[in-house]
Amino acid sequence: MDERQYSVDGELLPASEATVNVDDRGFRYGDAAFETMRAYGGSVFEWDAHADRLADTCEALGLDHGLSRGDLHSQIGATLEANDLEDAYVRLSITRGVQPGTLTPRPDVDPTVVVVVKPLPRGGVAGESVWERDARAQTTKTRRIPDNALPAGAKTHNYLNGILAREELYEADEALMRDQDGYVAEGATSNLFFVTESGIHTPTTEGPVLPGITRRVVCELAEEAGVPIHDGRYTVDDVRNADEAFFTNTTWEIRPIRSLDGLTVGGGPVTDLLTRLFDERIEREHY
Ligand code: PMP
Repeated sequence: MDERQYSVDGELLPASEATVNVDDRGFRYGDAAFETMRAYGGSVFEWDAHADRLADTCEALGLDHGLSRGDLHSQIGATLEANDLEDAYVRLSITRGVQPGTLTPRPDVDPTVVVVVKPLPRGGVAGESVWERDARAQTTKTRRIPDNALPAGAKTHNYLNGILAREELYEADEALMRDQDGYVAEGATSNLFFVTESGIHTPTTEGPVLPGITRRVVCELAEEAGVPIHDGRYTVDDVRNADEAFFTNTTWEIRPIRSLDGLTVGGGPVTDLLTRLFDERIEREHY
């Protein structure tokens, strides 16, 4: 296969030539906003929601990049087309760009915009999942950074919190991070759900939890199906004792949690129902 093409400031380049300046604040400080998206059948799933969250991140960072949504969307479209991809992982990053070397950001921003894509399997009812097996989760000592230090709703290039949590994992593949008070928050790159006899539960975004787009879609699907859904503050024991549990994110979609700290939890009928409804929605909207 020819080399993949990436977009840097709207210019399509072979991946090995797609570079950013070492003085870029995205590299230097993680001073950048990003979104991970999925294209199904050639169009981006939940583009408006991703564009909204990107705008929220930029607002939290005070990053006024001056690019329109339409412009960003067409850079994504051009990158997918250049790679002849319809089913793909799409990552859009906007950094605060190159500025003189002081920490204080300057208002006159010349942003760096990068679009990276890679092939993923088809989604929908005839699709296959990107993960090979259900998740093994582990409660980590590393706590989620509190909102009053770094707002969890801001999706920035700085992922050290999640990286440190992942480094703790032993025979597990996703971290379950708690907040400062010991309540469960989320995975390193995923939102958490669990099922009990009273319905589906997910940690509230009033805590340090990224408002995941898959999380929102799953909540909508549960409501449509008439399954009670609650958000709240929960303990690790609540999850360990649940009937079912799963993680959600854009690339995994709905991923059952086989075990938490070595104790079996697993998927089940509610996880299966939501997975089917999720696949049907993608099939309807994208294929
Ligand atoms: N939490 C964190 C910390 C994440 O990085 C992600 C992935 N973006 C998620 C949750 C899930 O969000 P989404 O469903 O929008 O991919």
